[in-house]
Amino acid sequence: MAKQPGKGGILYIVATPIGNLEDISARAIRILAQVDVIAAEDTRVSRKLADRYQIRTSRIAYHDHNERQRAPQLVDRLVHGEDIALISDAGTPLISDAGYRLVRLAHEQSIRVTAVPGPCAAITALSIAGLPTDRFVFEGFLPSKAAPRRQRLEALKDESRTIIFYESVHRILATLRDMVSIFDGHREGFIAREITKQFETVRRDSLVNLLAWLETEPQQRKGEFVLLVHGRPDRPAATAELERVLSLLLAALPMKQAVDLAVNITGASRNDVYRLALRQSGD
Ligand code: SAM
Repeated sequence: MAKQPGKGGILYIVATPIGNLEDISARAIRILAQVDVIAAEDTRVSRKLADRYQIRTSRIAYHDHNERQRAPQLVDRLVHGEDIALISDAGTPLISDAGYRLVRLAHEQSIRVTAVPGPCAAITALSIAGLPTDRFVFEGFLPSKAAPRRQRLEALKDESRTIIFYESVHRILATLRDMVSIFDGHREGFIAREITKQFETVRRDSLVNLLAWLETEPQQRKGEFVLLVHGRPDRPAATAELERVLSLLLAALPMKQAVDLAVNITGASRNDVYRLALRQSGD
């Protein structure tokens, strides 16, 4: 429906269920029914939701592959006063899904952008993982190729916050194997599979045990996954101090002298200091 130019419409970013169709808010249903058009990642997927809640609004496709052309077209409609809702196949749009370009462009045109919040697989998994939730990072999907994936994991090795990944059925085993070899295999992890769906399974264990579990139970490798990893445990303050003192001494003195002094200064055991000195000097 054409509207008066001059009065911009509203862009609604609407979260939809990640499995169980009941997980939609009353407001989301109302907004989806009343906007002029729904921009949906896959119009066939969104039909299920529309049918269930008798939402008759027309839908057009908006996804990673057409967002470059579609975003300006949609913003033009917003500028001319139409209201638009953006939804993805599941969960919150823009979270490992298309929409960034549209939201940026809408802001640039002073269009009002507002959220109808709801499910997000990352936050849902975090809420049931039993891992620290006070500080966490969302990494989304790791690179699909082995070398850049391992590089990314190497870069995350010392991350002390809980780390959240999305993973696909094709790579869950390879990713876990890489995590076991790059992070400490005894580090805790959490797998949330098919959250809110019929075959939901969740498991918290060491990374090495999670890998063994998936290797022996092929039915657990199906579906969609969120994978969480405990951050690197904090080093005790005494260890951090020893590392600092020893690296200063090693920069100025031969190893034996540096070790002797570090033992005197910190009171740490000679064996521990010597082992650390070898590591720090790259032997
Ligand atoms: N925008 C979505 C959100 O808010 O969570 C994420 C979209 S991303 C393209 C899809 C990925 O999210 C899946 O590969 C999986 O890692 C995760 N995911 C989505 N639904 C899930 C579910 N029900 N159970 C487990 N993981 C899920």
